[in-house]
Amino acid sequence: MPEPDFDKATSDAKQYIYSFAGGSAEGDASMKNLLGGKGANLAEMANIGLPVPPGFTISTEVCTYYYDHQKTYPENLFEQDIPASLRKVEQELGKKFGDPENPLLVSVRSGSRASMPGMMDTILNLGLNSETVEGLSRKSGNARFAWDCYRRFVQMYGDVVLELKPTDKKQIDPFEAILEAKKHELGIALDTDFSVDDLKEIVAKYKAAIFEKTGRNFPENPYEQLKGAIGAVFNSWNNDRAVVYRKLNHIPGYWGTACNVQAMVFGNMGLDCGTGVAFTRDAATGDDIFYGEFLMNAQGEDVVAGTRTPLKIEQLKAENPEIYNQLEDIRSILEKHYRDMMDIEFTIESNKLFMLQCRVGKRTGVAAIKIAVDMFNEKLISEKEAILRIEPEQLNQLLRPVFDLKAKKQAIEDGRLLATGLNAGPGAATGKIYFNAADAADACKRNEPVILVRIETSPEDIKGMAVSEGILTERGGMTSHAALVARQMGKVCVAGCGALTIDYQKGEMRVNGSDIVLREGDYLSIDGSTGEVIAGEVPTKNSEIIEVLIDKTLKPEDAPTWAIYNQLMEWADRYRKLNIRTNADQPDQAETAITFGAEGIGLCRTEHMFFGGERIDAMREMILADDIEGRKTALDKLLPYQRDDFYGLFKAMGSRPVTIRLLDPPLHEFLPHTEGEIADLAAKIGKSVETISERISDLHEFNPMLGLRGCRLGILHPEIPVMQVRAIIEAACRLKKEGHEVVPEIMVPLVSTVKELEITAEIIHKTARSVIAEQGTGIRYLVGTMIEVPRAAITSDQIARAADFFSYGTNDLTQMGLGMSRDDSGQFLPTYQQQDIFARNPFESIDIDGVGRLMSISAKEGRSVKPDLKLGICGEHGGDPTTVEFCHKTGLNYVSCSPYRVPIARLAAARAALQS
Ligand code: PEP
Ligand code: MG
Repeated sequence: MPEPDFDKATSDAKQYIYSFAGGSAEGDASMKNLLGGKGANLAEMANIGLPVPPGFTISTEVCTYYYDHQKTYPENLFEQDIPASLRKVEQELGKKFGDPENPLLVSVRSGSRASMPGMMDTILNLGLNSETVEGLSRKSGNARFAWDCYRRFVQMYGDVVLELKPTDKKQIDPFEAILEAKKHELGIALDTDFSVDDLKEIVAKYKAAIFEKTGRNFPENPYEQLKGAIGAVFNSWNNDRAVVYRKLNHIPGYWGTACNVQAMVFGNMGLDCGTGVAFTRDAATGDDIFYGEFLMNAQGEDVVAGTRTPLKIEQLKAENPEIYNQLEDIRSILEKHYRDMMDIEFTIESNKLFMLQCRVGKRTGVAAIKIAVDMFNEKLISEKEAILRIEPEQLNQLLRPVFDLKAKKQAIEDGRLLATGLNAGPGAATGKIYFNAADAADACKRNEPVILVRIETSPEDIKGMAVSEGILTERGGMTSHAALVARQMGKVCVAGCGALTIDYQKGEMRVNGSDIVLREGDYLSIDGSTGEVIAGEVPTKNSEIIEVLIDKTLKPEDAPTWAIYNQLMEWADRYRKLNIRTNADQPDQAETAITFGAEGIGLCRTEHMFFGGERIDAMREMILADDIEGRKTALDKLLPYQRDDFYGLFKAMGSRPVTIRLLDPPLHEFLPHTEGEIADLAAKIGKSVETISERISDLHEFNPMLGLRGCRLGILHPEIPVMQVRAIIEAACRLKKEGHEVVPEIMVPLVSTVKELEITAEIIHKTARSVIAEQGTGIRYLVGTMIEVPRAAITSDQIARAADFFSYGTNDLTQMGLGMSRDDSGQFLPTYQQQDIFARNPFESIDIDGVGRLMSISAKEGRSVKPDLKLGICGEHGGDPTTVEFCHKTGLNYVSCSPYRVPIARLAAARAALQS
């Protein structure tokens, strides 16, 4: 490759490269889309005068260009733009790229809009070759350091750029094999024990291995090295682990990554050098303490990879107070500047501090809420910003189980505490041990709870981490890959538990200094809040918030997380426009939901009230009855249950609205299937087995979900809604007499034409009028319908005429809108998601373009007839933050979700209101 011509003017007008050199930067923190998070923040730090080694960022547009143009680059990028940018770095440092006397070395790192820790590739010490290594050696006066850098560079280049790192973890990396063989030959354990000659020999062997495996020599030309490294970074955007990570985190593939080329600073040049990572607050608890780790005489990857256990940042205070104070100052500057908790990487080279990265720090849900509330109190952010800082799903972490304390105490007294590691991801998890991601995923498919146990994790393990209850590692610190990723996923994690020896080959985990061995499939419990690792199963129980809210076993003042949770919920309620209801069929569910802040019941599935005890028999008797008399006999048995249930539910809800849906049982869910069940039912209802079997066969449906269910049941057998409406109105009248005003909302399921609704509404009104007359008490009630059939959605102007309210039953609307069975789609949806046909599971998060459009059309049509038509959603999507946002934008009045998701929906609704 020829030396580039620096003086040729660039012909491409578009700016692809942004420098941060010479004390200022062309970019800033707002340019994340173009420069990636790393590049934008390096520019920002340079702009606010922090010590950043000079460099430049190749924008994400180059990455998209690369993929759009058969992996080629914009014109003149390598010929002019990159050399010109390198020249600025050279000028600032007085070094030259490829200069045998005083070589400039650079790092080449990826950096996309959203942080993807460890997913993409990095090359360090680039620019070294057999000449420049000698220059570095002379210049640094440290030949061992220079050759160690060269050894690392050739290995990284071989692994990453020349793709010699085996993708199959069972195969050995050729460079590791050479390194280990040399250690074995010399009888040494650590890399630091290699002499200069050893390193020279290793480098020679590395180069020979490269030639043998690729048929090409290791590139000596630094520009060729640079081009290779930049290509590798762009290629790594689409490596398997990055693709999986993007899927899990909903990061679109078209964003692309930027590529940062930056002058190297060395933390491994001697004892006055070092490297570290830190959070400006505690990322696990949110406490306002400087939290970090460092290693002297080490390169950045050593801290994160967990190969050496780093020291706590406080120790730096004792070792090097000047650098520590400088870091403390930077901590404060960054927090004030970014008004957020930051995650930083730094390097000390010959007693001089350099900032290599800063980004908004990942944190646990608990920490996110604490930091947001604290920063509001410190007047750094407003309450609106505080709300927008917290992802609704993070609240899950406050609501997550902890160990049953008694059971845990007992386990410890029984001597089952095996070891204590770092409390890297809070919460309690219990499950069966699996030692690799694939086995963990298989176990998860068998519905086994999994604890993933690894010596240390790497990005290849994320699939396994995603399916595990908890993660335990033998090595690594609080900022190791396992710790970072687990916290981000909201997983329980104990990291760096050095008292354990994990042996993948034997499939076992040994407690050092004892003969205790646990094997694959054995139960293990880990406490991610204390770091304790306990043999066997320890039951988990509710979190502090649950103890305060639901169990009332803890006073709010004794629960530190309560106050911050409560503050956040108060703020959320101040800004949200949507009401939040719950789906509940039993009074205890309703009470739980109220403590979480539910403002009503959006869906009571009455068929669920008949699952237990004798009720299921009466329900089956009713379904199987072959005439109206038989049905009425069974319905008479069901009436008292229904009335009592409705009474209980209304009472639990006080004056809050309660929507009761008339029976909607797809029959197959209720019919007896086995011979035993049939015989049992026959005996109970006094019919022969043959009669029942015959009737079951008469009722057989090929498509029960599209069969005799919903309003069709009531149209065929009006005695069913008559019984239900009687029970609803009688219960409401009883409460009225006791002094409680209830306005039941009676909901008709599976309507597709207005006629169906009109017929059913007529039955409802007639029954209600007669019960009210009997009871001698006037009560108000509403009659509305679910919108869960596409025809109903697009004829909502007609349907609205007969309805006081609509509730979107998005489970069925998705099933019918997409023509995709809600019960069977598990077979193909994972593949669909993998191929990006759906970014999210459409049964979890609303398909905005399709089902969402049906909802929008329906809302508009319905309100064109009745401007005040009350609109809600009661499909499972009601607790999904993205769907909640969509419902807000569509002008719904409420969302209804399962009780434990009510806090999440409250926060999601507030964020939607603030964002719109
Ligand atoms: C729905 O279809 O969205 C709904 C809430 O009803 P179910 O899930 O009971 O069919
Ligand atoms: Mg439905």
